[in-house]
Amino acid sequence: MIRTFVCEKEGCSGNTFLIESNEDRLCLVCSHCNSKYDIDLSNQEFILLPNCCQCNNDIFKVYKDIERGNVYYKCTKCGEVPEKIYVDPDGIQVSYEVKLLSDIKEVMKLLEQRIYNLEGNIKDLENGQNLLEQSLAYINKYIVEKN
Ligand SMILES: [Zn+2]
Ligand SMILES: [Zn+2]
Repeated sequence: MIRTFVCEKEGCSGNTFLIESNEDRLCLVCSHCNSKYDIDLSNQEFILLPNCCQCNNDIFKVYKDIERGNVYYKCTKCGEVPEKIYVDPDGIQVSYEVKLLSDIKEVMKLLEQRIYNLEGNIKDLENGQNLLEQSLAYINKYIVEKN
């Protein structure tokens, strides 16, 4: 369930916020009374910038997904989201496109590895069958000789 985040300070109930980010912490600052709210960033792979990616406005409405703990932002002027910086596995700042590409490459690598493993399994199966056929031939020969 997604709820509009409203300032919890008594008598305020403001619903527009500024984004204040430093290091690994992110704060929402109520644009009415300046109350600050910490936002958990532990499972995010991007850094949020305090300005709208479209119009550079710095005041946002904030929505919270109660069940998943996700937070969403919407520019109060144009409805867009805040600018984001993505960080690749080496800790280098990249654009969203570059990040997407590197994610896809990662998936391709995994797929390649799986195909390689599958090929290995098929070879093992073939070897197993050869062994089985040889054993059967040997048993047949043994039975024939015994008779
Ligand atoms: Zn407030
Ligand atoms: Zn905007």
